[in-house]
Parts: sequence; structure tokens; C-alpha cells
Amino acid sequence: MTSTGAASHPFWVAGRPATGADSFDVTNPWDGSLVGRVGVPTPEQVEEAVAAAAAAQHAFAATPAHVRAAALDHVGKRLAERAEEIARLITAENGKPLKWARGEVGRAVSVFRWAAEEARRFNSGEAQRLDTDPGGVGRLALTRRFSHGPVLGIAPFNFPLNLVAHKIAPAIAVGAPIILKPAPATPLSALLLGELLAETTGLPEGAWSVLPVPNDRMPALVQDPRLPVISFTGSDTVGYQIMDSVPRKRVTLELGGNAAAVVLADWSSDQDLEWAATRIATFANYQAGQSCISVQRVIADASVYDELVERVLAKVGAQVTGDPNDDATDVGPLVSEAAAERVAAWVEDAVAKGAKVLAGGVRDGASYAPTVLADLPADAILATEEAFGPVLSLHRVDGPDEAFAAVNDSRFGLQAGVFTHDLQLAFRAHRDLEVGGVIIGDAPSYRADQMPYGGVKDSGNGREGVRFAMEDYTYERVLVLTGL
Ligand code: NAD
Repeated sequence: MTSTGAASHPFWVAGRPATGADSFDVTNPWDGSLVGRVGVPTPEQVEEAVAAAAAAQHAFAATPAHVRAAALDHVGKRLAERAEEIARLITAENGKPLKWARGEVGRAVSVFRWAAEEARRFNSGEAQRLDTDPGGVGRLALTRRFSHGPVLGIAPFNFPLNLVAHKIAPAIAVGAPIILKPAPATPLSALLLGELLAETTGLPEGAWSVLPVPNDRMPALVQDPRLPVISFTGSDTVGYQIMDSVPRKRVTLELGGNAAAVVLADWSSDQDLEWAATRIATFANYQAGQSCISVQRVIADASVYDELVERVLAKVGAQVTGDPNDDATDVGPLVSEAAAERVAAWVEDAVAKGAKVLAGGVRDGASYAPTVLADLPADAILATEEAFGPVLSLHRVDGPDEAFAAVNDSRFGLQAGVFTHDLQLAFRAHRDLEVGGVIIGDAPSYRADQMPYGGVKDSGNGREGVRFAMEDYTYERVLVLTGL
């Protein structure tokens, strides 16, 4: 940490820009250059933000829907206007290829637009008759949702804008104050989002803060009783550590996965296999594998396995790796050299235990070549853990039962993709796969931002997708009217 000050990017305390006494550097994973210097909030500034959030709770809940919706629409519009600049910032701090960074900005625009729409619809309420029992005659129940209170949103590095949007936009939509803590490797996109939020009018002071608090000071914030809701997206290790430390809080966890793409026997035409191979190769490596729903496992029926593998290898071989600023690049660096070293060590572990490398397996600084493994032994780290790197393992099975059992043979359960034309098998997959989402006819990596999104098992317990996060942030409170 350096002591600078003036040159730092401001963070946001109760909606106002602030600089801390210290700062830290954000470096570009591709070339090691300095992308920005970010101020570290002092404990007093954190206290100011938390106190303002607590004080804003009732005023924010009472802010008219049209004001909250207008603020959300404004941020969506401004994100769209500044899309190229923001995409380049995401690429610089995260290393993801520009084309994927542009896609991320587009998705964040849609998150804010959806949140504006949901804010207009939210809490229209429900009436329930109570005269179904004699004791309820002359009574009526009305249900509305109210926020649990201020939210602590904690975001990961891999979608530094859109996963921040998924925390902040639903909070504004329900009128819950939020303190957002971005990932230390990629705070700049969240801080820039703060600029756009600061342009809005009508939200009470304390409605939002963006604080790049260092990890070692997070436990105090996590414990703070004025923040009853924690919405965490990140690794299962940190997520469960947080949840265990605050058993009485409402903690929603959006964690990792080792998503599978299943290719069943009926998905066998030339066109079918071409599409499956394209989607698998793309979404195994699209952010150097650093997506919670990257394809990590291919589970293919024996009847299509050989041809599918040949095509996947051809697609992976044709991927353009290198400079993420180049429009043509498919696969850029990982977020850091340390991340690439971890992936390399896990591939070495797999190989030492008997896996065969069909492609890749080479590290260069923070970059790791798109890698395809066959014969991954069950005791390899990569067989059980989340790779979070451009590594795909291939598994041959006989029939849908074996395929679905293989998908479920995992401690994670985020999404699964099933390539089949058979409607009955699609419904069976939906019924039997232990995941938060089943994607038929595509890779597990498909996500639309309004869809319910989240996991089961060690992939977490929350649901994002604007309306669903709004539900997570709120609870139903009933009003019973008597004497009617
Ligand atoms: P991480 O768990 O290392 O960090 C996540 C966030 O937690 C960061 O902001 C970090 O600074 C913060 N943090 C670290 N220690 C903390 C502590 N003790 N208390 C409070 N906060 C603390 O995860 P990451 O490496 O940034 O992100 C990658 C992980 O996120 C992967 O496992 C990935 O699958 C997961 N992820 C899940 C989803 C989802 O929606 N399910 C989406 C994206 C990423």
C-alpha cells in the first residue's frame, strides 16, 4: 500500500466522492501497467457510510417509485452512453477481451433498465381474504414487502461491473441502502459506476456507498449489526466463512461451480455437433475460464463422443489468444500471474495422476493456453474443484442416466447445459439435475440478467436476476384490517 492521496480514484461515501489516507494500485494483468490508484477508506469514512445507510433506511423505503425508477433509468442510459470507455476500463483492470467487456457493459445496462421496470411494479401488494374461517369474518389481509435493512454487497473480480450492478440496482429498486465492496483487483468499474449514481437526483443521502475496504478489515463490516443483509458473490471459501461468522444475518451466497455441458445421443447431426462444439469451446475459455458458469466438464454420450471431441479440439485450436485490447482476441490473460500459476499447478496435478493433455497446458505470465484434458482421474484437484481457468475435461458416458449422475457427482450445482432435442429428456434434466438452472440446447454459460440465477449445494443459496434479488433483500409483512 502506498501513501499518495491526490492521484487516487475517489471512492464513494454516502454518495459523495472521497479519498483515503492510503491508496493501492490496480494493475493491468496483460502488460503489468498501472491502470489506476485507488484510495482506501479510513475506518472513520467506513463508519460515516454505515451510519448514513442506517439513517437513510426509512427515507429510502419511502422514496417514491418514480424517483427510484428514474435514477435507475438514468444510470442505464449513462452506462450505454459511456459503454466503450467503460468496456476498455474493464479490459484494463480485469484482462478480459474487449468483446466480452463490451458484452458485460450491455448486460449492466439491461440490469439497470430491468430494475427501473421492477421498481415501478414492486409492492403493488396482494389482498387475501380471511373470512374463510369464522374468526376472520370482517377482516382482510394486505401483504407488502419491506427491506430487511441496509445491504452489504460484496462483489468478485470476474464481472467487475455487471455483478456490482446486480447488487446495487435491486437495492435501489426496493429502496434499501447499500454499501458495495468491490474486488481489490478490479475496483475501478465499480468506482466509475459511482460517478453515474452520483448524477442521479432524489435518492436520500446514505442510499449508496462504494467502499474498496481491504479484505483484512472486512470482518468488522460483516459483523456490523446496522447491515442486516449480506449479499456475497465470490468463492465458496470466503462465502461460507462470512455466513458462519454471522449466523443471525440474512446472507445470500452466489458462489462457484464446475459447470457441465451434456451432449446426449440424439444431438448427433453435423449441424448439432458443430453448434455444441462451438458453444463448448467458446464458453470454456471466454474469460480465460473465469466465469462461475464456464464449461468445465463435457459429459458426452459414447455415440457422439469422438466426433464431438474432434470438433471441440478444432475450435479450441482456432481460438485467438493474446492481447485483450485486440478486437479479434477470444482468450486473454487471467486476472493475475498467481491465478495462472494456480491453474498450471492443478493441470500438473491432474497429469501426474494420469490425465492426458489434448490441447494447451502451457502458461506464459498471466496467460494460460486453452486446455483440454481427457481421462481426468477422480482424485485430481480439477475433478472436484472449480478450475476458474481455461481448462476443460472430457467424460464419456452411456445414456442420459449416466450423464445426469455425472453432472450431479459434484459438490457444486450452479447451471448445467444439456444438448438434446428430446423434450422428455429436457424435462427429466430439469427435474433431476441438482443445479439452479438447466439450459437446453446450449452451454451452461447462458445467462439473461432478468432470469433467476444462483446455485444449490456449494454453489450458494441466493437468487439474482433483478426481481429475485429484490425478493432476497425484502420480506413480506402482512397488514390485517379488522372491523370491515
Ligand atoms: P473471492 O471469494 O476471493 O472474493 C470475493 C469478494 O470477497 C472480493 O470482493 C473480496 O475482496 C471479498 N473478500 C475476501 N475476503 C473477505 C472477507 N474475509 N470478508 C469479506 N469479504 C471478503 O472471489 P473472487 O476470486 O473475487 O471471485 C471468484 C469467485 O466468485 C469464483 O469462485 C466464482 O465462481 C465466484 N462467482 C460466482 C458467481 C455467481 O453468481 N454464483 C458469479 C461470479 C463469480
